[in-house]
Amino acid sequence: MRRFFAVVSLWALLSSQLFAQNPEPLLGFTAQASTDQRSWEQKFKAIPSPKLMRDYMQRLSARPHHVGSPYDKDNAEWILKQLQTFGWDAHIEQFDVLFPTPKLRLLEMTEPLRFTAKLEEPALPNDPTTSQKSEQLPTYNAYSPDGDVTAPLIFVNYGLPADYEELERLGVSAKGAIVIAKYGNSWRGVKPRVAWEHGAIGCLIYSDPADDGYAEDRTFPDGPMRPKDGVQRGSVMDFPHAHPGDPLTPGIGAVPGAKRLDIKDAKNLAPIPTLPISYGDAQPLLAALTGPLAPATWRGALPITYHVGPGTAKVHLKLTFDWQLHPVYDVIAKLAGSSESDQWVVRGNHHDAWVNGAEDPVSGQMSLLEEARALGEIYKLGWRPKRTIIYAAWDGEEPMLLGSTEWGEQHAAELQKHAVAYVNTDGNGRGYLQAEGAHSLEALVNAVARDVDDPEANISVWKRSQAARIHAATTNDERNQLRGRADWKLDPLGSGTDYTVFEHHLGVPSLNLSFDGEDDGGIYHSIYDDFYWYTHFSDTDFVYGRALAQTVGLTVMRLADADVLPYRFTNLADAVNDYLKEVQNLLKQQQDKVKETNAELNDGVYHAINDPRRPTVAPKEESVPPYINFAPLQNAADALAKAADHYNRSLAKALNSNPDSTKLAALNARLQSAEQQLLNPDGLPTRPYYKHMLYAPGLYTGYSPKTVSGIRESIELKDYKLAESEVPRVAKAVSDEAAFVDSIATELEK
Ligand SMILES: [Zn+2]
Repeated sequence: MRRFFAVVSLWALLSSQLFAQNPEPLLGFTAQASTDQRSWEQKFKAIPSPKLMRDYMQRLSARPHHVGSPYDKDNAEWILKQLQTFGWDAHIEQFDVLFPTPKLRLLEMTEPLRFTAKLEEPALPNDPTTSQKSEQLPTYNAYSPDGDVTAPLIFVNYGLPADYEELERLGVSAKGAIVIAKYGNSWRGVKPRVAWEHGAIGCLIYSDPADDGYAEDRTFPDGPMRPKDGVQRGSVMDFPHAHPGDPLTPGIGAVPGAKRLDIKDAKNLAPIPTLPISYGDAQPLLAALTGPLAPATWRGALPITYHVGPGTAKVHLKLTFDWQLHPVYDVIAKLAGSSESDQWVVRGNHHDAWVNGAEDPVSGQMSLLEEARALGEIYKLGWRPKRTIIYAAWDGEEPMLLGSTEWGEQHAAELQKHAVAYVNTDGNGRGYLQAEGAHSLEALVNAVARDVDDPEANISVWKRSQAARIHAATTNDERNQLRGRADWKLDPLGSGTDYTVFEHHLGVPSLNLSFDGEDDGGIYHSIYDDFYWYTHFSDTDFVYGRALAQTVGLTVMRLADADVLPYRFTNLADAVNDYLKEVQNLLKQQQDKVKETNAELNDGVYHAINDPRRPTVAPKEESVPPYINFAPLQNAADALAKAADHYNRSLAKALNSNPDSTKLAALNARLQSAEQQLLNPDGLPTRPYYKHMLYAPGLYTGYSPKTVSGIRESIELKDYKLAESEVPRVAKAVSDEAAFVDSIATELEK
């Protein structure tokens, strides 16, 4: 619409006045309902208070509050009381989950010289909460197994599959070794998993100063980055290959009396002993390595020459854990809907942290609380959401989405019947709106973002995010699309936060929202993620906290109030089309790469370029990947695009013609299950927990998504037969969605 105005100026002149009085109706609302909605939204937006958010942060991050700690429970009870004071019907739901904590951690180098790692983050004199030693969890990786191993050390870059291919070329094997990997570029649990696949018996993960230390900015407390002894705690659960949540109750809620597995039968524990360390502890270990030089792209910012090893360096790693069940306390609050109360809009952010967790998770939790307060305020003024709103403060997210997963599993049937969307946040910073989610919600998020002001630039958060995207784009195609398309695209959902059970397991369309890009830091999961750090280096005046509360609050309100659920399937059809093109390109690239490698092998290129002083091993000849028949998916994608267009036309007509509210309610009752058409009850190949055929956490990325994973990841793993057999399964999900959307479009026309 805006581009059209720019070109046809007369029309712009005539219509701008008309439109000022009658702005375009909101997505899913009639014209009259839009006017009412906008007026409630104005009232809502004025309420969230930076001052109160600062107070909430100070209170919630005052002491360490990990799962099982006294202050975790104290926070849950405090949040409960707040939500009740805001006028919500709130309670705590408890689950009992397996959460190991360290009993013994020992890391020492025994050869060529002796060194014992400190494994300790020092308190800082100016930062009061860093000295709460008796309540802090030691630095460790949760769900590492117990172990006592001594072995040669090798450096494996980020510890991902491509790094081991490179090691093989250098003639170095991980078999029987302890590996040391850099943090970053994947879910940390991927690192021990891949190390184990290559025969390693132990895994160390360290934060290189090139990634979040002194190479980026000054270190804490002089700057925001990771100090020498700072350590990233974190879970190494192998959730991508198995499932998130309590290891002992896969697929069911961990309630009293639930059937629990023996620990030895749990499927999502890390396979080898794993320990995170600081760069202070890593440096002597890395400096002791000899063997081939590390490839240029592997080297970090430590003042050493990076070798891959093995050399003579030998390390001893001993870990034992206390394998106990601990309670998690989810705070669940409801604001009852009026006319369509059996439809639920669910919104969550976790409250547990690794230590004090001012940024992660409190910076998101404080916005959630201000949204809840603001919704409670306008409720008192007479606003009545059509649908029921459920606010959730999850516990146990850090160990691996324990509170949200157990709650989702416990209420699976109800959620699939009632939930219309799940909106997640997990902390907040400064900068540009980041939005990941189900593509049926893409138009909604874009519309909301146009109606929220950016606190720094004098433009909407939509416009600022568009500008950042244009500037970061790497191709002309991308830039043209960003300038010409009405909506910028949502990134698909990966994992590592609480939406997974909703989107990937249950098919509830989900979103994950935050502001970032101007808030670099190196305090993630350390004792330095605290009130002092946040109020010196992040959103120090809490204005992005307010922007997040406004963005999420408006999203929740539109989902709760729309006459017709605000899904737009043309955006989904576009996403499917993108994924189809991407997997076709991926296959072609893989074919070209194998052809080229084989040609170079046959032409003696590897032999010719080998440096006898730094020898490398030539890759093996491979057979060229076969062609795959993508036709079923092409046809399904076309059908979805057509059905989605049909739906848009029917909806516009229906909303323009004074629709009957009972008829619309009946329609919404059907529409609620739209996302579930994309599930397959058997799930993805090798991991049945993940039932969504379009979105999944990557097997070897974890945080980052792999879309159409059955096809894409099978191609990446060179299982072309499996990829070919996955095409019809993905196609079926897409054509089921197409038929579903088309049938609703037809119904709308009646
Ligand atoms: Zn978090």
